[in-house]
Amino acid sequence: MSGKLTVVGFGPGSKDDMTFRAAKAIEEAEIIVGYKTYTDIVAEFFPGKDYRSTGMMGEVERCQIALDLAKDGRNVVMVCSGDSGIYGMAGIVYELAYHNGSDVEISSVPGITAASSAAALLGAPLMHDTALISLSDWLTPIDLIMKRIDRAADSDMVIALYNPKSAHRPDYLKQAFEIISKYRGKGTPVGIVREIGRADQQVTMTTVGEIDFGKVDMLSTVIVGNSQTKIENGRMITPRGYKLE
Ligand code: SAH
Repeated sequence: MSGKLTVVGFGPGSKDDMTFRAAKAIEEAEIIVGYKTYTDIVAEFFPGKDYRSTGMMGEVERCQIALDLAKDGRNVVMVCSGDSGIYGMAGIVYELAYHNGSDVEISSVPGITAASSAAALLGAPLMHDTALISLSDWLTPIDLIMKRIDRAADSDMVIALYNPKSAHRPDYLKQAFEIISKYRGKGTPVGIVREIGRADQQVTMTTVGEIDFGKVDMLSTVIVGNSQTKIENGRMITPRGYKLE
């Protein structure tokens, strides 16, 4: 009889930011599969479980391993950071299971995504319409990514940038800001939040005109305000539009 596979988003990385449902799924799992960085974090909070970390191998192989274990009747959890369905593993798990004609029972447990946890540290920058955009060109052509940046900036959406930088594409962030600068003033607030929920957490507030790209790495989420976003008393706030007397 087939077992089940639950894709669990465990939030930004601290136990307090994990949902009860995520914790329950991990506690009940017989086997926990995931990229090593993630299984290491989860193992800190739930020691002594059967972790199968898959190192740098591709996502598809990792999903296949999890599906095979579940097919053998095991209760398997696949962990990913943040939300399971936002640049997470839920999509490929469903796609691959369908592709294989698998009868494994699959479900997805949502988690706090990086944009939300970054926003809470900055203040309240996502109070109005927001575009989540990943700068990773691994599975998406860079022209399409930059087109989306352009459209989001043109339509005055707050923009939350995921995967903002990596060694092989250090200039995409600068390119994205050149596009954003066509539509947003130099003084538009920008928040950079690194390693949320972990020991090295860093929160930086800057502006479109003054951002130091060197402060941003792959462990950061960058939030660019809309035309109304302001910094007040050290908090980045996007007004919803309430009238204050
Ligand atoms: N599923 C995840 C996103 C995975 S993509 C989620 O919903 O949050 C990886 C990107 O997410 C990183 O490059 C970074 O931009 C962001 N991210 C994930 N965890 C983070 C953390 N603890 N601190 C800051 N950014 C984080």
